[in-house]
Amino acid sequence: MAMRVTFWGVRGSLPSPTAPQALTTRTRDLLQAFFAAGHRGAADIDRFLGALPPHQVGGYGGNTLCLEVQTETQQVIIDAGSGLRLLGYDLLKGPCGRGQGEVHLLFTHFHWDHLIGLPFFSPLFIPGNQIHLYAVEPDLPEVLRTLFRKPNFPVPLERIGATLAYHRLPPRQPAQIGDLTVTPYRLDHPDPCWGYRFEHQGKVFSHCADTECTRMS
Ligand SMILES: [Zn+2]
Repeated sequence: MAMRVTFWGVRGSLPSPTAPQALTTRTRDLLQAFFAAGHRGAADIDRFLGALPPHQVGGYGGNTLCLEVQTETQQVIIDAGSGLRLLGYDLLKGPCGRGQGEVHLLFTHFHWDHLIGLPFFSPLFIPGNQIHLYAVEPDLPEVLRTLFRKPNFPVPLERIGATLAYHRLPPRQPAQIGDLTVTPYRLDHPDPCWGYRFEHQGKVFSHCADTECTRMS
């Protein structure tokens, strides 16, 4: 595995749960396909669903932005949209569930949809976990203090349990996170927003969210 990228959330602006009508339509389509394939009994349901592409059963996610980049030995998370809540549950199965986890979380920018998952990221509340937070913009600590401050959220950042470490990334300078080389590049967005170029073993993944390509010369 050179790099594996998992999309835990891709929506902009707001999480978008599946509407009841859309769920009804999808269920009807699946039932029609089930019977059209010649299935008749409950014993065939799991085999039928398991053979379909995941999106045909589960649809596309409604969570706001959160990605996970993994190598054999390193994991980096990009942004703390509502998708981060699901990733947090997944991490609890490993060292994060025992207070022995190390998390590396990069922020592209501080718009609401890229932050709202953080107060619901379970590894934050387990003492012993080390959470490394990265951003190019200098105001990350104040942004997060505000996010967790009453009346926005009942638990202040100073009492969450895990240990936080802030890291400021210089623009266009390669930084090393384990065996991943990460370089931030400025994007075109109403407030400063940064894309990240990940390099590992000669392979490159570039993440450019929210860029609009309207003000760039
Ligand atoms: Zn934005």
